[in-house]
Amino acid sequence: MNAKAATKSAALYRRFNTLLIANRGEIACRVIRTARAMGLRTVAVYSEADADAVHVAMADDAVLLGPARARDSYLNVDRIIEAVKKTGAEAVHPGYGFLSENADFARRCAAEGIVFVGPTAEMMEAMGSKSGSKALMEKAGVPLVPGYHGEAQDEKTLADAASKIGYPVLAKASAGGGGRGMRIVRSADELAAAIVSAKREALAAFGDDRMLIEKFVQNPRHIEVQIIGDSHGNLISLFERECTLQRRHQKVIEEAPSPTLNAAQRDAVCAAARKAAGAVNYVGAGTIEFVSDGKETFFIEMNTRLQVEHPVTELITGVDLVELQLRVAFGEKLPLAQDQVTLNGHAIEARVYAENPNKNFMPSVGRIRTWHTPEEVDGLRIDAGYAEGKTVSPNYDAMLAKVIAWAPTRDLAISRLNRGLQETDVRGIVTNIPFLSALITHPDVRANTIDTGFIERELAKLTPAEGQLTDLELAAAVGSILQSERAAAGADVNSPWRAGAGWAAVAARRRRFMFRQADGTERKVSMRYGQGPSTLAIDGRVIAFASSASPRGGIDLVLDGVKHHVTVVLDGHEVYVRTRNGRFEVHWVDPFGTEDEEQAGADRVVAPLPGTVVALLVEEGAEVEKGAAILTLEVMKMEQTLRAPFAGTVKALKCKVGDIVAEGVELAEIEPKA
Ligand code: ADP
Ligand code: ADP
Ligand code: MG
Repeated sequence: MNAKAATKSAALYRRFNTLLIANRGEIACRVIRTARAMGLRTVAVYSEADADAVHVAMADDAVLLGPARARDSYLNVDRIIEAVKKTGAEAVHPGYGFLSENADFARRCAAEGIVFVGPTAEMMEAMGSKSGSKALMEKAGVPLVPGYHGEAQDEKTLADAASKIGYPVLAKASAGGGGRGMRIVRSADELAAAIVSAKREALAAFGDDRMLIEKFVQNPRHIEVQIIGDSHGNLISLFERECTLQRRHQKVIEEAPSPTLNAAQRDAVCAAARKAAGAVNYVGAGTIEFVSDGKETFFIEMNTRLQVEHPVTELITGVDLVELQLRVAFGEKLPLAQDQVTLNGHAIEARVYAENPNKNFMPSVGRIRTWHTPEEVDGLRIDAGYAEGKTVSPNYDAMLAKVIAWAPTRDLAISRLNRGLQETDVRGIVTNIPFLSALITHPDVRANTIDTGFIERELAKLTPAEGQLTDLELAAAVGSILQSERAAAGADVNSPWRAGAGWAAVAARRRRFMFRQADGTERKVSMRYGQGPSTLAIDGRVIAFASSASPRGGIDLVLDGVKHHVTVVLDGHEVYVRTRNGRFEVHWVDPFGTEDEEQAGADRVVAPLPGTVVALLVEEGAEVEKGAAILTLEVMKMEQTLRAPFAGTVKALKCKVGDIVAEGVELAEIEPKA
């Protein structure tokens, strides 16, 4: 490196103590976590919509940037520079999205003496445009998708290029990102219209409507390589990720390593990526993206930032990429050489979005009523940017969290991820979690016989409507209502719930619940309790029922002697239920509905349910006190003692041991004491 370049990089990369994170959501939280572990002071920035956000609470300090609109807050360069100065921050981490690939912002930081955690403005500019980077890669000898990436943009040039390449082609915005400004064109007569609409989208999203044309690779798979370079000329690759499960060119599931490549192909693509990044002497973390037809692998673009899916690389290499980014920004040498980067096991990530897959993935906004994620053990990692009570705003990307699983093999990693998704329960807004579960457990995904069009083709199978409530969910809904009443009664000494399992109402009581399931059908549940074991009657079935708070959260239900752990949340009239059958939203109709004492059973000894008489505990003519045991009945394999409703004399026993008695039949007659 020459002296001038060395001085320049000394100014651009140097040790700092305070880091401002110019982002929000899960990535801001993720950067803060590592920065703090490295002993740095952290500063968050936020918009008016995010005053209450998780990243703001996590950072040491936080600065309000402006109104909710990204342009007025997270994309407002002046306000961010002001925030850096106001808080004494010395460096900025841009995360992904927002200003992370904005060369003007990187340049402005350099001019203000602020360390930008990332490449220089010049490197970004060289690689930022898809056309420009393809021209560079062509020179460097990196294999490209056959295509046109020239300056001329007139209709004839583009049409001639497309014909020469051969249809189908992909028309792409050179400045594009996030899958926007991109159209597949299957024949010449579709081209003009596709270009007009792609240009319109690109101009609105990126302020630049230049297009390039590429051969549409058949059976495409997305392969990308993580690289990182330091300011001393070292550059390493950290293996590849495969992100073939996409919807509208946006990644949904990402994994590492690629299950498609063999060792020789892996070496080749990693070498091509190092060559690509080496062509601009790249500094910082970056990703080189390729598309593969299963045989050949072609360069498509470089992202000059940390990627959403970076955790899968971290889990297979054991490297903290944010730590490396910060150490490179300190001006340190990379702490590991290429041959020290090792690959262990398999990792897979799912992006959890606030969106409704059953309604064309429409974003869902509003307050998060409940937020539950599994413990980060057994290879699970959760990178989240939201929590219970937080609001999902329509102003930003709707990604809530990433659920990531590591295991020794791909198959186990998929199973762990699925378990992690099943245990992730976010309510109050609609999420894509059931869709993600269906997707990763699809046999074609397990078998890796997929391409980037897989989700679109299989959509109907991946978005089943919410099913009928089974007895388990209805019992869970009842359990949640009882649970909340017990909690509310906690302080009330006279409450029948207070004694826990052993409350002793004198008479059997019946309580009726009405629930409405997602398809509008109303379901009735009748609960009997107060004398012996409680039961639920659902559509003519009678089920022995008990519910109690579970030590691991949620409730334990015992239905006909089988214990089920379920998660329930009662929010007004809505009951959020999660069982082994999935997630359900149950509407509780008329929570002030009827509760009546069963007059029939109140002052007599009657069978509360069909059962067998197993013991007679008194003889005719005996004097009994109120509550004295009269006989034992076996109901649903559980013994239940029937007691005297008042003090008096046993006038008649109307059954004998072994009798099978019907519900409501009087079993003993007691004459009250005068
Ligand atoms: P990755 O390649 O890491 O999956 P994406 O291309 O999906 O990244 O983009 C990451 C995030 O950045 C997404 O939230 C996306 O909406 C956002 N994003 C990508 N490109 C741009 C851009 N040019 N302008 C604004 N946001 C962008
Ligand atoms: P973005 O900047 O929006 O991420 P990319 O150029 O990375 O744009 O393309 C997005 C996705 O579209 C890729 O992940 C890949 O799956 C698909 N894709 C891109 N180029 C091609 C191509 N030439 N043939 C087939 N699929 C492609
Ligand atoms: Mg891309």
